[in-house]
Amino acid sequence: MNRAARVLWAVAGLVLVAGFASWVYRHASLGAGPAMKLGGLYLQVAVTPLLLGSVGLALVLGVASRAVDALPRRVAAPPLKLPELSPLAADGEDRARAVREMLLVLGRHLRGMAARNEPDIIGFMDQLMDGAIRSGASDVHIHPLETGTRIAFRVHGVLEQVLVFPREHHPRLINRVKVLSRLPLYQLDKPQDGHFPLATQDGPADIRVSILPTNHGESVALRIARTGVRLPQLAALGFPPALLEQYQRLLALPQGLILVAGATGSGKTTSLYASLGHIQQTRGELTRIATIEDPIEFDVPLFAQTQVNAEQGFTFAQGLRAVLRQDPNVIMVGEIRDPETARTAIQAGMSGHLLLSTIHANSAAGVFNRLIEMGVEPFLLASATAATLSQRLARGLCPHCRTEMPLTPEDAVRLDAAGLERGTFYGPVGCERCEGSGYLGRTAIYEMLAVTPAIREAINAKVPSDRIQELARREGMVPLLAAGVERARAGATTLREVFRVVGG
Ligand SMILES: [Zn+2]
Repeated sequence: MNRAARVLWAVAGLVLVAGFASWVYRHASLGAGPAMKLGGLYLQVAVTPLLLGSVGLALVLGVASRAVDALPRRVAAPPLKLPELSPLAADGEDRARAVREMLLVLGRHLRGMAARNEPDIIGFMDQLMDGAIRSGASDVHIHPLETGTRIAFRVHGVLEQVLVFPREHHPRLINRVKVLSRLPLYQLDKPQDGHFPLATQDGPADIRVSILPTNHGESVALRIARTGVRLPQLAALGFPPALLEQYQRLLALPQGLILVAGATGSGKTTSLYASLGHIQQTRGELTRIATIEDPIEFDVPLFAQTQVNAEQGFTFAQGLRAVLRQDPNVIMVGEIRDPETARTAIQAGMSGHLLLSTIHANSAAGVFNRLIEMGVEPFLLASATAATLSQRLARGLCPHCRTEMPLTPEDAVRLDAAGLERGTFYGPVGCERCEGSGYLGRTAIYEMLAVTPAIREAINAKVPSDRIQELARREGMVPLLAAGVERARAGATTLREVFRVVGG
């Protein structure tokens, strides 16, 4: 209930009571003399409390409706099925494509809602905001033009049009925004600011509202501030159970370096966020976690997050040094790509901090020589590093329709050449859940090199990457190709995908 409705309630109550009082007064004053006095007495004794009572009731109703308003609004489960936005499509072209696909479906659905004679504006706004949250939008723009109202989302800095809303219903849409943010409906010619809370599947959000009068009506910008985000879960990324356990043990270390290698768009950052989420869950909220990023991808309330700005001379290395002065327990550095950051990171990993970062290298074994090329002392590198990981991203098979497929002769040859077992693998079919494609979401393929005493010696001796790789295999590392084939054997993806993303 908004402010106008509350005033109406109060006025209606007062009118009712005044009418009743005048009725009582007229009847009570019919008789003369003592009856008149009796009537007057009755008014004083009975009607006054009634009047006060009704004013009190109106106040209570007003306060109660305010309290109801203050509750976060839950977005009703939308009846439309939006395409899946996998946490692993976190960066690059894949994500942009997935977002566009999602907005297309959302736009079509909302256009259908808006095209009705009497559109359900409340439902429309709920679904619009739900779509904005799920597509990862930072802003929603509702901008009136001569022919219609353009509704657009800003996703990762790019403005994407969602639909054109019918001109004639524009005022009702703006009123809905005003009701949500408790702004006066009659104010049409002045800029207004407000906000409203929104409960979403990913936790609470605060929507900052800005309304600006324009020549075609009021224009609205809604800024979505995520006050609590749900970080991606480690277990959902594609670690086989045994590897997950081993990795989680490493995340419990008080100090050291954990470095993730992979190409752009291989989901490295997502792996790091999931790792930080796991650390926070297991160590508790008192663990201080700091990040230095470019750009900040998830806004996490309990992390101290710093954005580097290379153009203004604020680099990863400077950010890292500044963060170290605050002495956090765990540090995430977006990427190690220069000697200064590399050296500072190694120092951090040797002085009581667990440091997670990403680096451009072809394999887990290749990370060491990459850092030595950057001028890091092999001896320090060997003692500071706890583990290196390498990862690739493969399309996930739809678990609802996948089916066993006979091994093709080429695949058999490739498996034999890699010394891997043949056996049963799966292929795509296509069903309603995956829109006929046979694929759903993404799965990561991991290779993890835990630094053992033997590996430490090898790094120290500056041996070439392929020899470190060989040694790591003997020490129990499952290389990327074998790990990918295992994922395919489990039905998470296809052999063809594995060969495509891993090679070999
Ligand atoms: Zn399917």
